[in-house]
Amino acid sequence: MKPTNIKQLQAQSRRMQAHRVDRHTLVVQSTSNPQANHIVTVEFDKEDIVQARCTCQWALNRGVACTHVMAALEYLASKKNRTLSFWPTREDAQRQKQRVFYLAGQGKDEDQDNGVWITSRTG
Ligand SMILES: [Zn+2]
Repeated sequence: MKPTNIKQLQAQSRRMQAHRVDRHTLVVQSTSNPQANHIVTVEFDKEDIVQARCTCQWALNRGVACTHVMAALEYLASKKNRTLSFWPTREDAQRQKQRVFYLAGQGKDEDQDNGVWITSRTG
């Protein structure tokens, strides 16, 4: 399950605080509850595929690319001086002529249509 309003979520995620706990784990503030945090784990594999998990309700319901995961990935990218954009389809991402990553959907996702696409650019 991927979000329909991906650009809106991305704008929201850019205002969220994230910090790194260890190599694969980040803590991201909750948007619905300012007293709460969500834990995001991120793993990259060699095919430029990103696997991410989050503790929020959207992720627990098999949703991919919640604002917390986006905020976590943007935080990691910012440390390498890179900026990310999120796209609903591979075609949208490839049109950007930048490096492309795939944020995998949950469960079986061999056709790569449950997840979202990420482009990365300098600056
Ligand atoms: Zn989340």
